[in-house]
Amino acid sequence: MLTQAQMLGLDDAHLVSVAGQRLEAQTATAWQALVADAAGAGFQLAVCSGWRGFERQLAIFNGKADGSRALNNRAGERCDVRVMSDADILDAILAWSALPGTSRHHWGTDLDWYDAGAISRDALQLEPWEYQPGGPCHSLAEWLEPRLSQYGFFRPFREPLGGVAPEPWHLSFAPVSVPALGEFDANQLAQQLEQSPLALKETVLAQLPGLVERYCYRISQP
Ligand SMILES: [Zn+2]
Repeated sequence: MLTQAQMLGLDDAHLVSVAGQRLEAQTATAWQALVADAAGAGFQLAVCSGWRGFERQLAIFNGKADGSRALNNRAGERCDVRVMSDADILDAILAWSALPGTSRHHWGTDLDWYDAGAISRDALQLEPWEYQPGGPCHSLAEWLEPRLSQYGFFRPFREPLGGVAPEPWHLSFAPVSVPALGEFDANQLAQQLEQSPLALKETVLAQLPGLVERYCYRISQP
């Protein structure tokens, strides 16, 4: 079971290293078995993003809010924060990036994958077309789909449910992540955000219960 500090991305004691990334220990074991299975089928299944802490997520969120990082809206179109309301900026950020403290990448149970035999990490943009027919990761995506559950993985951002936009690359290790979500404490999240240098803080805190419902709980089930 993960602690609240681990769920908020404030504690990394539960992680182990896997090919340059960090994952929760049970997740890492299952992942390595899946990677070996994929290798037997001729694929180079790789993690491009595993664990990510609160501070890192805060830098991503704040960078998008202040315009120093590229920001796309829910439709995938580039937008300009200088002509947007705080509410619209927040909606665009949260379609693709988690609010710090709510990223499933904080848990170590979730990861983003790609086919290292088909595209380099530098060239990868983590955009849906790369995983769709004609994209470099499509063949491996098709191979993975019927096998994920055998290893305990599922895709929480499979369908457009009005929260996080569909992310074909994002996997979660259900035996640890499902109980973790059940233990998530929104009050501790609120306390952590209040004391952090978070952009759009007033807008975020005013909407926090709704944001947690929409972006944490509204997921595709295993
Ligand atoms: Zn992800």
